[in-house]
Amino acid sequence: MKLFNTITRRESVFRPIRKGKVGMYSCGPTVYAHAHIGNLRAYIVSDILKRTLIHDSYSVKHVMNITDVGHLVGDGSIGEDKLKMTARLTRMSPNEVARHFESLFLKDIRALNILEPDVVARATEHIPQMLKIAYALDSKGYLYKTDTGMYFDTSKFPSYGKLAGMGFKRLNMSLIGGARVERPEGTKNITDFAVWRLSKPDESEMVWPSRFGRGFPGWHIECSAISMEYLGRHFDIHTGGVDHIPIHHQNEIAQSESYSGEKFVNYWVHNEFIKVNGRKMSKSLRNIYTLDDLAERGFAPLDFRYFAISGHYRSIINFTFEGLANSKNTLDSIRSTTSKLSSILDSKGSEAERRGDPEFQKNMLKERNEFFKAVNNDMGLPEALTHLHSIIKESRRRLGRGEIGRTDAETVRDIIIEIDSILGLELWRPKAEREVSKEIMELVERREQARATKRFKDSDSIRIELRDRYGVIVEDTNNGPEIHFINED
Ligand SMILES: [Zn+2]
Repeated sequence: MKLFNTITRRESVFRPIRKGKVGMYSCGPTVYAHAHIGNLRAYIVSDILKRTLIHDSYSVKHVMNITDVGHLVGDGSIGEDKLKMTARLTRMSPNEVARHFESLFLKDIRALNILEPDVVARATEHIPQMLKIAYALDSKGYLYKTDTGMYFDTSKFPSYGKLAGMGFKRLNMSLIGGARVERPEGTKNITDFAVWRLSKPDESEMVWPSRFGRGFPGWHIECSAISMEYLGRHFDIHTGGVDHIPIHHQNEIAQSESYSGEKFVNYWVHNEFIKVNGRKMSKSLRNIYTLDDLAERGFAPLDFRYFAISGHYRSIINFTFEGLANSKNTLDSIRSTTSKLSSILDSKGSEAERRGDPEFQKNMLKERNEFFKAVNNDMGLPEALTHLHSIIKESRRRLGRGEIGRTDAETVRDIIIEIDSILGLELWRPKAEREVSKEIMELVERREQARATKRFKDSDSIRIELRDRYGVIVEDTNNGPEIHFINED
C-alpha cells in the first residue's frame, strides 16, 4: 500500500516495522461535547486505512485514546479545560460529562460501521504512564517550571517544526505572526507546552498528586503515553486531522522522541476538514451537525459514511444536504441492485438460468482489481468508487435484460462483499432476512431496558453477547433498535 506521509511530504510504499504486523494510533475524541461530522470524518478515514491493511493481510493493532482530561480550549496551554468547562455549564461533574459523551461517541462510531479499536484508553486511567514520561523528561533537562506547570522547552528538540514543514525559528515566528499572542506567563518559547499543569488550590476534581505538585496532565503527553504503552516506543502509523499538525502532533513527537531517544512514528496520516456550505464549521454559524441532526432529516449514519468517503481524505470536502441526499440515493440504488442479484441466488432456476457469462465475470473481476489498486494507492476512494459503480451499472444493465445467471450473480456478490470489507456500507443486504430467534429478541429487549435505566455496562455486555454468540449487530435508530447479521450472504 502507498501512503502520503505528512512528515516526508510524499507518498511512499508502506513498510511495517514488524513483518505482517501494523501498530496504529488514532487521536481519540475529547469527550466534552457530542462529536460532529467533522470529528467523525477522521475516524472514518482511519477505519478505511485499517480495513485496507487488514485486507492486505496485515494484523493490525489499533489504539485510540479518550481525552477526558487536559485538553484546553485553546489546543495549546491557554484556556480552561474543555471538560471542566462543560461541567461548569451543565452542572454535571467532569466525570459525568466524560462518560456521557464517551458513550455517545462509541455509539456513533458503531453506527458508522467503524471497527472498534483494539484498545480504547481513557487518559484519566493512564496518569502514572504520563508521569513516568514527565519525570524522565524532567531528569533529562527538557522541562522547566513556571507558576502554572511544567513546560517542555521546545528549543531543546532540534527537529521541532519538521512535521509542519518548518524549522523551529520559522514556526515560532509564524505563530507569532506579528500579532500579540497569548501565552502562559513565564514560558520561554511560544511553542513550549505544558506537560503537567498545576491545579488551583480550590480544584478538587480531576487532579492527581505528583512530584511537581498536585495537578493534571497536559493534553499532548496523554497521546505519547497511551500510544507507547500499547504499541511500543516506535510504531508504524499515527492518524488524525490536519488541525493536529502544527501543535498537538508536533508536541507528541518532541516529547516522545526526547523521552525514548528513538524515532516515534514512521507514517503520519492526516485527513482534511469538512466544510459546511463552503464555510468553516463554527458555533456562531450554527452549522455544526451531529449524526442525530442528520437522522432528524431522515439520513442514516451510513449515508454520511458514503458521503465522507466519496471525497479524497486529503481534500477538504464540502458538506451540503443536497450532497448527502445524493449519497443516500447512490447507496439505495447500489443496494437495490445487490438485492436483485441476491434474489437470483435465492431462486431455484433451470440449468440455463444458472449458466453465466465468463466474459462478464472477467470484466467484473477486472473492475474489482482496479478498485483495490486505487484503495491501495493512498486510499484513492473517489477513483475506487468509480469501479464499484461500473460493476453496479453493468450488473443493472444485464439484470434489466435478464442476462444475469447464477454464477454471474455469485461472482458479483463475492466482489461486492470483498469491496464492502473496505467500505463498510452494508452494500449486500439480502432480501430474505435471517430469522430473528426468540433468544435474540429477548436479549435485544433486555439491552433496551438496560439502556433506558442507564446501566451501560450491562447493555454493553449484552451487545457483545449478541455479536459473539448470535452474530448480530444492534443499531440504535430513532425508530428503536435495528438488527443486522454479521457476514450476511
Ligand atoms: Zn493525540
